[in-house]
Amino acid sequence: MDDAERESRAAEDRRIAALASPLEVLLETLRNDIRTGDAIVNVLDRVADDELPQLAEAVVQHLPSESAKHLGGLLLQAPQLMAGHVDEVDEPMPFTWLEQFDEGERPPVALPAHHLVFEQRDVDYEPRFFPDEPVERWRAVPNPTWQPSTPAVGHVRVGGAAQGECSACGWPLQRVLDLADFPGVEEGVVPRALVACVNAPCMWSVQWFAHDGDQPRALPRVNDLPDYGMPTPDPVPELRAALHLTPARWQLQDWGGQQNLNRVGGHPSWIQDAWHPECPQCQRAMPFVAQLDGATEFVGAKGWSAWTEGLLYAYWCADCQISALTTQQT
Ligand SMILES: [Zn+2]
Ligand SMILES: [Zn+2]
Repeated sequence: MDDAERESRAAEDRRIAALASPLEVLLETLRNDIRTGDAIVNVLDRVADDELPQLAEAVVQHLPSESAKHLGGLLLQAPQLMAGHVDEVDEPMPFTWLEQFDEGERPPVALPAHHLVFEQRDVDYEPRFFPDEPVERWRAVPNPTWQPSTPAVGHVRVGGAAQGECSACGWPLQRVLDLADFPGVEEGVVPRALVACVNAPCMWSVQWFAHDGDQPRALPRVNDLPDYGMPTPDPVPELRAALHLTPARWQLQDWGGQQNLNRVGGHPSWIQDAWHPECPQCQRAMPFVAQLDGATEFVGAKGWSAWTEGLLYAYWCADCQISALTTQQT
């Protein structure tokens, strides 16, 4: 780099540093009620934790303006700051998402929430921001769901072909997740691998798999819907992803924005009603174990969008070592 280049880069760094902070941008947005949509939430994700009380105060003060309602995502990120204003914001329902269960019943959540974080070069993630704001300002501030600051606690693999075939339609099974390096696999807390038949009538049903051998084995079942004779889609590319413990602020995530919703453990991001399949062996509701987002696109390849327009949910009965898979979409 020569002197002129170095000077021009330093000038650019100073220009970006002088731009308003995420909090300042949102306070201005609230004062003038000027912005709604995904972009406002993308900026919200980038507000520092210790600035949330100040933001929440402004949101409450400006309700029911459109900008304030769109910042209702704060209900999920900091419910204690928005108590008493649940009915005034757009739509998040954090309190109904925290599913209730009776004492003595087993919890619907199998383990704490972890984000699946792909290499940045593998994911086609281009956040939407305001057209009147310089995009580089926001690119410089990471979204903690895609670029966490905490160290990885394990690694998984997604994609690729699996062994065996579907018990309902005969299609070859595809790999959803390989959790072999995940802490807890040895104890059966999480399944070693998750597989699926991605034929549409199977994706719209519940699929169950026994984990009593080297590979998950499709348990007998019959589809309610007819087979449409669709071509087999390409498998999701084989990729490695790191697992990071999900920060407290993103324990509950809403579907349909631009956050990373690829998770192992924690609470699902329901698109329809909260729902758990019954374990075919013990007849109890199966705890949720992982979800993958059809909206995640990989560089040069499709993700799970050929399988579902919504989210893919996996469940795990640790007592019977049986997994289940289902999807929800709009
Ligand atoms: Zn099938
Ligand atoms: Zn069971």
